[in-house]
Amino acid sequence: MAYLIGPRHARTTILCPHCGAPLDIRRTCWDVFMQCSSCNKAFKVETFAQQMDDVMEEFLSSLYADRT
Ligand SMILES: [Zn+2]
Repeated sequence: MAYLIGPRHARTTILCPHCGAPLDIRRTCWDVFMQCSSCNKAFKVETFAQQMDDVMEEFLSSLYADRT
């Protein structure tokens, strides 16, 4: 059984393409995605690969660290 270490979601500085509110990066046991804090729309992380901020980068690196 794998235990998840670190936060399950974090607030990024990336803005929702739909409403302009900040997006959260979230993970489940099997997936990671971006979700708007206002309109709750979900997006693939890859969608924002070009705009990746420090929060996102750190979140993803802790995610990969969990899998080692
Ligand atoms: Zn939104």
